[in-house]
Amino acid sequence: MVTQNSMKDSLIAFAQSRLERLEAQSLRRSLHPSARLENSMVVRGDKRLISFSDNDYLSLSQDPRVKEAAAHAALTYGAGAGASRLITGDNPLNAALEEHLAAKKGCEAALIFGSGYLANISTIPVLMRPGDLIVMDELAHNCMHMGARLSGAEIALFRHNDVADAASKLAQPATRKLLLTETVFSMDGDLAPLQDLAVLCEAQGAWLMSDDAHGLGIVETPNPAHIQMGTLSKAAGAYGGYICGPRALIDLLINRGRGLIFTTGLPPATLAAGLKALEIMAAEPKRRSRAMAHTAQFCKALGLPQPQSTIVPVIFGAAQAALDAAKALEDEGFLVTAIRPPTVPKDTARLRISFCTDHDEADVERLAQAVLKLRRRAA
Ligand SMILES: *Cc1c(COP(=O)(O)O)cnc(C)c1O
Repeated sequence: MVTQNSMKDSLIAFAQSRLERLEAQSLRRSLHPSARLENSMVVRGDKRLISFSDNDYLSLSQDPRVKEAAAHAALTYGAGAGASRLITGDNPLNAALEEHLAAKKGCEAALIFGSGYLANISTIPVLMRPGDLIVMDELAHNCMHMGARLSGAEIALFRHNDVADAASKLAQPATRKLLLTETVFSMDGDLAPLQDLAVLCEAQGAWLMSDDAHGLGIVETPNPAHIQMGTLSKAAGAYGGYICGPRALIDLLINRGRGLIFTTGLPPATLAAGLKALEIMAAEPKRRSRAMAHTAQFCKALGLPQPQSTIVPVIFGAAQAALDAAKALEDEGFLVTAIRPPTVPKDTARLRISFCTDHDEADVERLAQAVLKLRRRAA
């Protein structure tokens, strides 16, 4: 006889067996309540740690002017947007942000989405359908992969930053073609050869779309991509995704982008924080040079090449080795999260170390010495 709880028991058994498998591979993850404070300080339980794991590269999430702008918008307009943007949720701060972003990126128009993830999974399926071809860098972010899958188009991956391989993948016939890459790769910190990819796309009849999540505010060279996606959740210290491109594309996304139409607009406080952060980013280039100087200081101490962004991977290979390294750094007062598959490819588990404006040179030096010690031990 079927008891009333047998399917609930089966659900629990399913979840537990999946979790046990992850545990056995050192791939089980868990949440750690983390109170982020000024100067890259994070309080976790009874520990105070200096974080080198944030994407808040310009330390703008903690800037008093950004916090003030968020508070003021909440007090003026309320805590939430109240509806989707196409109903009543299109707070005027959206248009102000879009204008700023379009001008910054040299594009006709921009469109704010709830997050970068939503921007990618909403935009790619508007452009591509079965019979079309998406060619993407193998290291492109999960939300580009998911957007590509949702579109139903044929997907071909090319070797990381390998333009010749991208060319061979683009050569197959298709109704429409789209090439996807990141401007700054999120887990490696290296840059895509965007100019070469743009030439290739022109020659092979493909649109070029770049994900600038880790480039905004950090790598400010002109971007030739036809579709420029990004987020306000990294160097802008706030939240919200965007697409910049031609006006007609933006109008089409307003009409067809599922993750714009069927979701609520961003809270006014979030929009105001993003806008203030972009203004500060433009007015204070020193913030960027400080973050880059900290990255360069670390790379020099470790004997690594000059960094291209604020992200430095230190690869350990095995997931457990990366976890052990993170634990050792925690014992020295640093928060550097181990990044494991599936976020990075198999056997490339790493410490992904990121540098911010408000880090202190002495702390960067101490971290470098601690990482050197770990590397010597692992060798
Ligand atoms: C973080 C990230 C996203 C998602 O942005 P959110 O606004 O945090 O959803 C997309 N692409 C890349 C490369 C990212 O690193």
